[in-house]
Amino acid sequence: MSVRVVLLFAAVMVLGGCTKDYVTGGYTFNLYNEDQEVAMGAQADPAIVAQYGLYPDEELSQYIDRLGQQVARTSQRPQLEYTFRVLDSPVINAFALPGGYIYVTRGILAYLDSEAELAGVLGHEIGHVTARHSVDQISRAQVAQLGLGVGMILAPELQRFEGLASASLGLLFLKFGRDDERQADELGVRYMGRLGYDPAQLSGVMGMLGRVTSGGEGGGTPEWLSTHPNPENREGAILQLAETAEVTSDPPKVLREAFVERLDGLVFGENPREGYFRDAHFYHPDMRFQMEFPSGWQTANSRQAVQGLSPQEDAVLALTLGEGTGAGAALRSFLAQDGIQGAGLSEASVNGLPAAAADFRALTEDQVLDGRVLFLEHAGTLFRILAYGVSSSWAGNRSAARTALESFRPLTDPTYLNVEPLRIRVVRVPRAMSLDGFLAQEGAQDRGEEVRLLNRLEGNPRLQAGQVLKIPTGGRLPGDH
Ligand SMILES: [Zn+2]
Repeated sequence: MSVRVVLLFAAVMVLGGCTKDYVTGGYTFNLYNEDQEVAMGAQADPAIVAQYGLYPDEELSQYIDRLGQQVARTSQRPQLEYTFRVLDSPVINAFALPGGYIYVTRGILAYLDSEAELAGVLGHEIGHVTARHSVDQISRAQVAQLGLGVGMILAPELQRFEGLASASLGLLFLKFGRDDERQADELGVRYMGRLGYDPAQLSGVMGMLGRVTSGGEGGGTPEWLSTHPNPENREGAILQLAETAEVTSDPPKVLREAFVERLDGLVFGENPREGYFRDAHFYHPDMRFQMEFPSGWQTANSRQAVQGLSPQEDAVLALTLGEGTGAGAALRSFLAQDGIQGAGLSEASVNGLPAAAADFRALTEDQVLDGRVLFLEHAGTLFRILAYGVSSSWAGNRSAARTALESFRPLTDPTYLNVEPLRIRVVRVPRAMSLDGFLAQEGAQDRGEEVRLLNRLEGNPRLQAGQVLKIPTGGRLPGDH
């Protein structure tokens, strides 16, 4: 269960954990000294990186780190060693681990509109670290999940399975208390002012987060919607703080254009190169394979696994990378685990790929699971596909699962291979014109709402000549013309 526990800690500091619930509760991290706090962050950081991946843009990452370090130096804990990472996720979020690990997603970066806003987001997260905010509340459900005790052997898969069952493959988003959020805002405002940034810009971020998640379009995620109440009520409070904040620069710095230009080329939204579904059919262009999941199953693709969950939520299917040198050896070592009994071993190839498969029964602490495992070698990579469910109902899922396992095959069709993500393009308005006119000129009429959100525009404003706008462009999926 250690992975799950780590992720729980990882989730404690979420920018939008701006909950309206009043939460009492202790500052449990105050029970830890600084060394322990830092160790906690250092231990969880690899799990975060594995879950989301780092966004592969060295220049952007260095820029975020430079700015973050500056903000951190103005904080009450300037001596702490801070680490800033850009995660390769379309989810709009930023969060911090105890001990000074701060994360922003590429998703939130696209929606930030000035360096001052970024400084505010980083400052808010640093505020959680400097104030040593703790988990105020773990819901009963989450405690129940933690205590599921499904046994050691298949626990990692089952943990993801639970995540899928609750329609969230992300981290468990724990909510901060309202007071913690207010304090982090206050600290963020203070740090911004100390660096000369206009602290009022942080309220723009909160307004954007409210807008981006309340509309269906625009990249907001269900996770965000369900776990982060609309932060709208904070905007006024932040503006008030900003009015009295000490700002070391006159006029205060906003730095919109220089910031926006750094976002040119940023991947926007889901990246289909990393795998995508078309109904139950999964395509992975970069790894050049495809697979058909049982119809009617919930599916999800994450960096660590492609997964399916049966309609009755009594069986799962998980495709991951295998460990070992070959399919046969990997299968034997899988079956050699304590508590696993294999049957019907086969080393017949699957769709021309070297493979090894077996049925198995797993005896966990409190239940019996039946399943089938298949290892396959494809393009120099070993894959593992595991399907299993509770023993009592496995008969009803067995054949669909087996069909799905054996549908894994190479992907060669250029229609599905040659997909591209949307990217942010930074465009300069050539002459004064209306936003609608500009969108028409750019062929981006159907992206109007997104463009408004991305650039903090409303309605159909008059744009100035030379004004810089972020527009999502490109992107290609099968069926696009
Ligand atoms: Zn927060």
